[in-house]
Amino acid sequence: MAKRIAILGSTGSIGKNALRVIEALGDGYEVCALSANSSVELLSEQVKRYHPRYAAVTDESCVEKFRGLVAGIDIEVLSGPEGLERIAAVDDIDIVLTAVVGAAGLGSVLTAAENGKTIAIANKEPLVVAGQLLMRTARENGVTIVPVDSEHSAIFQALQAGRREDVKKIILTGSGGPFRGKTIEQIENASRDDALNHPVWNMGPKITVDSATMMNKALEVIEARWLFDIPVDKIEVLIHPQSVIHSMVEFVDGSIIAQMGTPDMCVPIQYALTYPARAEGIARHLQLDKLSTLTFEKPDTEVFRALKLGYDVARTGGTAAAVFNAANEAAVELFLNGRIQFLDITRLIEQTLEHHEVIPQPNLEQLLETDKAARKYVQKEVMTLS
Ligand code: NDP
Ligand code: MG
Repeated sequence: MAKRIAILGSTGSIGKNALRVIEALGDGYEVCALSANSSVELLSEQVKRYHPRYAAVTDESCVEKFRGLVAGIDIEVLSGPEGLERIAAVDDIDIVLTAVVGAAGLGSVLTAAENGKTIAIANKEPLVVAGQLLMRTARENGVTIVPVDSEHSAIFQALQAGRREDVKKIILTGSGGPFRGKTIEQIENASRDDALNHPVWNMGPKITVDSATMMNKALEVIEARWLFDIPVDKIEVLIHPQSVIHSMVEFVDGSIIAQMGTPDMCVPIQYALTYPARAEGIARHLQLDKLSTLTFEKPDTEVFRALKLGYDVARTGGTAAAVFNAANEAAVELFLNGRIQFLDITRLIEQTLEHHEVIPQPNLEQLLETDKAARKYVQKEVMTLS
């Protein structure tokens, strides 16, 4: 029986790569559902090529246009954020690949977990906002969550080399982004284009800005904390500019298990879909004899304060990470729209966190309210900046 896959966010960077991966895997993998927010032209092309049974458009103002584009095609069109949740609950879908950007993916990933789907998780923000709740829901429903984020895929693979109680620490690697080695003065006036010019990875705009502030690594620390149920103090971040080692696990005997490969998201995407099996893939293989050096350095948390904040937030727990994530999403959008300066992103996150009173054991409703309030606070604060 073919594995039936839903891709939530199929028009994005991860989503498009996932479709290439599935196409190359051939028989045995079937695209059952796709979704976009507003890129309905691309979504309609994907529908014509991959023949899913469902397509969801979350931006309601684009649904009618999409219906026109797929007129005459036998497909169920769903709309709004509920459309994603409907897909995540469809009976005969086996794997839900979550490739939506931001906390907007929270509802659908929770629904997938409640409905016993295998989850290939790229969309890291829901894990940051509600990791405890999501992992508990997955456990209760016997759901396997396989990470797509390259570092977490590496850790997931490396952890298979030993017993959980023998793990000394997790070493999350990062390229350092476009501003590695720069001073505060040098990045104070960084433009949108500077921030979007990532040295290694070609990704969607939000995560690319997150890589420039190192917020991405901060989110990944929290993501790892929940995915692998490991205390945050056992997670170390190391800058590894060559991006050959995608992360490592150190065991108590001093053995370090690393996962290596070319920096190509098709590898972790494919692994999440074929797990526990592996298949020939479309990514270039690493040529070890062409590598001259692998270097590692400690991140500069004076310049990239978001990373240190991420650790603080992870230790605080409760609603802190929801504030951290929401303030970042709001600030990144403002930066991408030219409304604030690069360093204002981290400043706004700090201010929003300071203003927030943490709820220690929040329920879903409290997390969603916290998310909303943090976004609102950023909008208010930004007025005082201009
Ligand atoms: P993109 O911005 O390229 O794509 C995002 C996708 O989500 C698009 O299909 C977009 O639709 C859709 N979308 C946007 N806003 C909403 C919304 N409010 N509700 C529902 N769907 C929405 O992002 P990426 O592919 O880069 O990233 C996706 C996720 O994967 C993120 O959480 C990111 O952190 C994570 N990730 C990405 C990596 C990468 O290499 N890109 C690496 C590791 C993790 P539309 O096209 O219509 O806007
Ligand atoms: Mg990553």
